[in-house]
Amino acid sequence: MQSADVVVVGSGAFGASAAYHLARRGLRVAVLERAALASQTSPRAAGLTSQVRATPALTRLAQRAVTKLASFSEETGQPLRFTQSGALKIARTERDAEQLGREVKRGAAVGVPIELVSVAEARRRLPILGERGIVAVTWSPTDCNVEPSELPLGYCRAAEKLGAALLPHTPATGFELGPRGVEGVRTPRGTIATGAVVDAAGAWARLVAGALGAPLPVVPTRHQLLITEPIAGVTPEFPIARVIDANVYVRHERGGLMLGGYEPDPVQVEAVPDDVAGLPLDIQVLWRLARSVREQFPIFQDPALRVAEHRGGLPTLTMDDRYLVGPLPGVAGAWVMSGCCVGGLSVSPALGEAIAGWIVDGAPALDCADIAPARFAGAIDEADLRERCRHAYATHYRASGGDAAP
Ligand SMILES: Cc1cc2nc3c(=O)[nH]c(=O)nc-3n(C[C@H](O)[C@H](O)[C@H](O)COP(=O)(O)OP(=O)(O)OC[C@H]3O[C@@H](n4cnc5c(N)ncnc54)[C@H](O)[C@@H]3O)c2cc1C
Repeated sequence: MQSADVVVVGSGAFGASAAYHLARRGLRVAVLERAALASQTSPRAAGLTSQVRATPALTRLAQRAVTKLASFSEETGQPLRFTQSGALKIARTERDAEQLGREVKRGAAVGVPIELVSVAEARRRLPILGERGIVAVTWSPTDCNVEPSELPLGYCRAAEKLGAALLPHTPATGFELGPRGVEGVRTPRGTIATGAVVDAAGAWARLVAGALGAPLPVVPTRHQLLITEPIAGVTPEFPIARVIDANVYVRHERGGLMLGGYEPDPVQVEAVPDDVAGLPLDIQVLWRLARSVREQFPIFQDPALRVAEHRGGLPTLTMDDRYLVGPLPGVAGAWVMSGCCVGGLSVSPALGEAIAGWIVDGAPALDCADIAPARFAGAIDEADLRERCRHAYATHYRASGGDAAP
């Protein structure tokens, strides 16, 4: 391929969604992927949505994403396992109960259904939930979960049907920059002439932005989950459950339970491995998180429990726990989709649509000011960046006053 209107670097949830939405707008799109298509962090996600966010604009993006996930197969013609299980959010302290009260108000203001329910009602919906130690619970009936591997692959295939060129095992190795900005993307197969590039390189996004001459204040951070062998009585109707102060989530998966969470001292990766499959994992982190919710989820203390799958990947964190999506400051024609903050898969349908609108129309249809890279203008102190990203991760379900991404 010698030229394209837009070159997208990365075929994970962010890049694939951007490519699909750009191709739908009639642009000639090339997707460069250094590994196999959609093979890195995205297929390792939990696939949860969470719609009530810290600001109305963020909530609208998350709400739009759920609407698009629900009609994904109809829209793209590609398969996606979609379960609208709803979600429970559990406060074990008065402080977190107050946060839930604010979330109910914020949801109502934007039209996302969410209400406070009794512990008995929560246990009716999720029979494995223990009754001790719960101060307040919310119920969000429209939250859902999807099979993570199907989403980016589906967007890739749908983009291809619209004429996009998918180039797996073809890294972007450098950029041609002229006085008016981006002019081309170098690959081992030659240079693709283009006036626009989208850096959707996941854990490698900072390296790609660096090659474009722009600093990117994100930190790749290990995040893990486990899935148990099937357990009698556990069904897909079980809602997602999150415990705010413990930063733990639980949902049904393949007849068993999935448990994941955010430890206080996560591994922040400095040298990103060639493939996320080579990332060292540590299941003890998950057992510690499981013990921290033993009163609410005693089932994880059952010695008969067997782990069927343990997986992890490298989401990128930002200092304010919000996405980093939009024009890359200082480089005309360069765009970025990064800072997923462990919530990029589920919102990728809306973010891909937004970036396509931004590139084609000059502005996204939904307000993206809260996530624009321009908010981090200025020099970055590396130690400060890492500490603030660690803090954002460690307080994920409380960050930004309750900006509960998945
Ligand atoms: C255990 C776990 C649970 C999670 N749970 C959820 C959840 O419940 N809900 C949710 O929304 N999110 C969740 N996430 C986060 C979600 O996985 C990420 O937000 C999402 O996958 C980010 O997608 P991405 O496209 O940025 O990254 P990736 O999927 O990693 O894609 C980036 C791609 O760029 C490619 N690339 C890099 N450099 C280059 C280059 N130079 N040239 C060409 N290609 C390049 C890479 O090979 C890679 O394929 C979870 C993550 C983990 C690890």
